[in-house]
Amino acid sequence: MNAEIISVGTELLLGAVVNTDTAIVARALSELGIDLMHTCVVGDNPQRLKEAVEGAIARSGLLIMTGGLGPTADDLTKETTAAAAGKRLVLHEESLRRIENYFNEKHVSENQAKQAWLPEGCTVLQNDNGTAPGCAFQAENGCTIIMLPGPPSELTPMLNNYAVPYLKKSQEYTIVSHNVHIYGRGEAPVAQMMDDLMDSENPTLAPYANEGECYLRVTAKARTHEEADRMCGPLIEEIRSRLGNFVYSVDVNSLEELVVKELAEKGKTLATAESCTGGLLSKRITDVSGSSGVFHMGVVTYANKAKEELLGVPHETLEQHGAVSEETARAMAEGIVRKSGSDLGVGITGIAGPEGGTPEKPVGLIYIALSDGENTWVAKRSPIGRTKSRDWHRHCAASQALDMVRRYLAGMPVTEQ
Ligand code: ATP
Repeated sequence: MNAEIISVGTELLLGAVVNTDTAIVARALSELGIDLMHTCVVGDNPQRLKEAVEGAIARSGLLIMTGGLGPTADDLTKETTAAAAGKRLVLHEESLRRIENYFNEKHVSENQAKQAWLPEGCTVLQNDNGTAPGCAFQAENGCTIIMLPGPPSELTPMLNNYAVPYLKKSQEYTIVSHNVHIYGRGEAPVAQMMDDLMDSENPTLAPYANEGECYLRVTAKARTHEEADRMCGPLIEEIRSRLGNFVYSVDVNSLEELVVKELAEKGKTLATAESCTGGLLSKRITDVSGSSGVFHMGVVTYANKAKEELLGVPHETLEQHGAVSEETARAMAEGIVRKSGSDLGVGITGIAGPEGGTPEKPVGLIYIALSDGENTWVAKRSPIGRTKSRDWHRHCAASQALDMVRRYLAGMPVTEQ
């Protein structure tokens, strides 16, 4: 089935609001295995909206509309779309009751009540976070039309809880996707290594890049969930055998999530000493629920004095090798293990830029150390290719530190790249 999305709102055309709804819906469609062919934005103009809807109904099997379901005069999506699909609007009593309850009033204004008028015969999609209900129905030519409210906080739960199950029910097959997450190999070389597998039709294989990492999505289509799931297995195994230790998980969505899980499983604890990442590593770890059981402490030691006083980095090490050096990273990791009593300690020091680089120590040069109190491993990140942002260097350094912990816990070579 081919799908398209129409997002309605003049504020989107003006650039005043970023069209995140389309991205949210597009991701859901991709997970359902529905091919999205067009997206467009239309302002709050009934004539142009009518033309866009008529075009979409004529060429697509599924049309998803976002926005313009609310109470104000410029909210025209329902009226216009229903008319273009040849449907009348009828009052949906239950939705009216919900709106009255929402406002705690027996009789709401005509504008508020207008939201309860929905295309005849539609399936109503309840709005658990606002007043405007969504709906799903078929146009006369069989095109399925789904309308969702504009605010992402309303759209997302309605999509996940009501629209996706509605779509799943109307599909005669089930789609199962698994994401194989990779760290240490970029999207392009990974795609090249998988070139011969990319033509596979069921399951399909698609590469995606994601902030210094990449993942491969394996998607199978079958009559039952179990069958589709089984079909993914051999392809995932083939990917694992080609990429070896670079695969860090299947379906665990981030390195930090995996590291927290593995630390908990192995009964180990971690502490961090950060300089150029400014606490980003500890932030990413503590973003994961359950991290309190495995993460002892994180210190940000930006100044040399702090590195000496808090971590015991020797003055001579800083004098001789500088704050950005393998020796300092090593001393930071070992220092935080001593200080915290954790099983593992990470030290990160480098130049995130955009200023502060020299020919010997350019922007992007970052040392990351991992210590278990007995052994210490240090990885060096050198800048390659085009200039990257401060955020990029910091994010990648934190990711590499997490990857080193992950490798250590799995008994793999810690610094292999
Ligand atoms: P409401 O009941 O809030 O009026 P609605 O369905 O009528 O819901 P709109 O009036 O179109 O939605 O938009 C309300 C707000 O939702 C916008 O001001 C904007 O903040 C957000 N919004 C609308 N469309 C999008 C979109 N495509 N992406 C992200 N945010 C959006």
